[in-house]
Amino acid sequence: MQTLEADVVIVGAGVIGAAIARELSRHHLNVVVLEKEADVSGGGSTKANTGIVHAGFDAQPGTLKAKFNVLGVKYFEEMCAELDVSLKMNGTLVVATAKDKMEHLEVLLERGKENGVPDLEIIGPRRLLEMEPHINPKAAGALYAPGAGIVCPYGLTIALAENAVENGARVFLSQRVTDIVVRDGQVRQVVTPELRINTPFVVNAAGLHSDEIARLVGQDDFHIIPRKGEYYLFDKRFGKLANHPLFPVPTEVSKGILVTPTVDGNLLIGPNAQNIEDKDDTSTTVDGLDEVLRGALDTMPDLPLREWIINFAGLRTVASPGNDFILGPIPSVKGFINAAGIQSPGLTAAPAIAVFIKDTLREEGLELKAKPSFKPVRRGIPQFENMSPQERREAIAQDPAYGRIVCRCETVTEAEIVRAIHSPIPATNIDAIKRRTRAGMGRCQAGFCTPRMMAILSRELGVPQEEITKKGGSSRYVLGQTKDLLLEKQG
Ligand SMILES: Cc1cc2nc3c(=O)[nH]c(=O)nc-3n(C[C@H](O)[C@H](O)[C@H](O)COP(=O)(O)OP(=O)(O)OC[C@H]3O[C@@H](n4cnc5c(N)ncnc54)[C@H](O)[C@@H]3O)c2cc1C
Repeated sequence: MQTLEADVVIVGAGVIGAAIARELSRHHLNVVVLEKEADVSGGGSTKANTGIVHAGFDAQPGTLKAKFNVLGVKYFEEMCAELDVSLKMNGTLVVATAKDKMEHLEVLLERGKENGVPDLEIIGPRRLLEMEPHINPKAAGALYAPGAGIVCPYGLTIALAENAVENGARVFLSQRVTDIVVRDGQVRQVVTPELRINTPFVVNAAGLHSDEIARLVGQDDFHIIPRKGEYYLFDKRFGKLANHPLFPVPTEVSKGILVTPTVDGNLLIGPNAQNIEDKDDTSTTVDGLDEVLRGALDTMPDLPLREWIINFAGLRTVASPGNDFILGPIPSVKGFINAAGIQSPGLTAAPAIAVFIKDTLREEGLELKAKPSFKPVRRGIPQFENMSPQERREAIAQDPAYGRIVCRCETVTEAEIVRAIHSPIPATNIDAIKRRTRAGMGRCQAGFCTPRMMAILSRELGVPQEEITKKGGSSRYVLGQTKDLLLEKQG
C-alpha cells in the first residue's frame, strides 16, 4: 500500500472528472484523479452516449441542467480547438413529423428563450427538406438551434485528462475508491486497494456510482437510477444521410430517439430510455432495439436497415429525488464536494461544471494560485486517414510505421497505435487504443486488426500476449498457447 499526498482527489475520470482535473491544473495544486476502470472514460456514461453538444432548450428553466447546459456550450469551440478535438457546430433540428406536433415546438422555443438560448427558430417543411433531404416527407416543420453541435465524448475526455496530466495532474487507473476517511467532520484520506491518499478535498465525479461514494462519507439523501439507452451505429458510407442531429419531439423521460451524424462520419440512431437496476448492464435487447428502429424510421423512413455495424447501450445517471445535477459541498462533511448525478446534458455542461467546482473549492478554503506555465494546448495523434498525400509521404519519411496499415476499415497505422500506447495516459488495452485511434471502430469491428494490435501492445509494453486485455481486469483474449494448455491438461 502506497501513501500519497494531494490537495484535491477527484473520484472518477469520465468527462466531468477529466474536465475538473484540467480546470484545476491551471493552478499550483497537487491534483489526483482515481478511476476504477483501466482507462479514462472507460467506465460510465461518457463512453457510450449520443455526443451532442446541446443548445439548451430542452431542460426545464431554473434547473441546474438548464443553467450549466447553456453555460457549457459556450466553451466548446475554444476548448476543442485548444485540445485538438473534432467538433462540428452544425446545429440541431427537433422535427415535428406530423402537424399536431408543431405545437410542442413552440413550447420548446419558449423554454429555450427562457433558458437564454440564442438564435432559435421554427422552420417550415420546405426549408427542412432542403436542409435534410432524407427526412420524413410528411414532416411539418422543425425547431432549428444553430448553436449546437456534435463531438466525440470519449475523445474529448481523453484530451481533457491528457492536458491535465501535461499540466501536472496525476491520473491513477484501475483504482476503485473503497473508502473515504472523515475525522472531526473533515475529509482526511481516500483509500483504494493499493493507495492511501491524504487530502483535505474530495470531488465526487463517480457518475453511476456517485451515490455509493457519497455514502462513504455518510451522505444518504439520493440514489442513482441507471437509465439505459440503446443504439445502432451505421457504416460511414451513410454518415451523410443526416446533416444535423435530428430529434423527434421529446417525451417526459428523454429527448427521444435521434438520427444523427457522428463527428467521425458515421450515422447513429438511438437512444431509447429504460430504467434498470444493474449499473453494469450495458446489454442490448430485442425490444429496446426495435423501439430505436421504430423511432428512427419515423424521422427517416429510408434508413438503410442492413448497413448498421454495431449495437451498443449507455447508462444515464439519473439522480433521485430531484432528477437534476447534484453540485457542491455538503453541510455534514467539510471538504466533500459533489459533481454527482450528471445525466444529459452532462457532456455539454462539463466545462461549465468544472469551473463551478473550482470556484466552490476556492470558497471552501482551497488556495488557488494561477500557474503561468499552464499549457492549454494539447496535440492529438496525427491521423493518417485525414492527411493529404503530401502529408502522408512526410509522415512516413519521419516514421516508417506510418506506412504500415493495421486497421484497414479506418486506415489506422502502426505509428498511431504506438503513439497511443506511449501517450500521456498510456493506452494499455485494446479498447483504450480504439478510443484514441479508431482502430477497430470500422465495418469489421476489429475482426482483422485485434491480433495485430495485441502483437504491437505486447511488443511495446514488453509483456506476453496472454496479458493483453480488451479493457483491463480479467478481459483477456488468449489464455496461452494451445500446445502448453494441452500439456497442462494432460498433467
Ligand atoms: C444514452 C446516453 C446519451 C447521452 N447523450 C448525451 C448527449 O448527447 N449530450 C450530452 O451533453 N450528454 C449526454 N449524455 C449525458 C452524458 O453522457 C453524461 O452526463 C456524462 O457522460 C456524465 O459524465 P460523468 O463523468 O459524470 O460520469 P461517467 O462518465 O459515468 O464517469 C464516472 C466515472 O467514475 C468512475 N467510478 C465510479 N465509481 C468509482 C470508484 N468507486 N472509484 C473510482 N472510480 C469510480 C467510473 O468508472 C466512471 O469512469 C448521455 C448519456 C447517456 C447514457
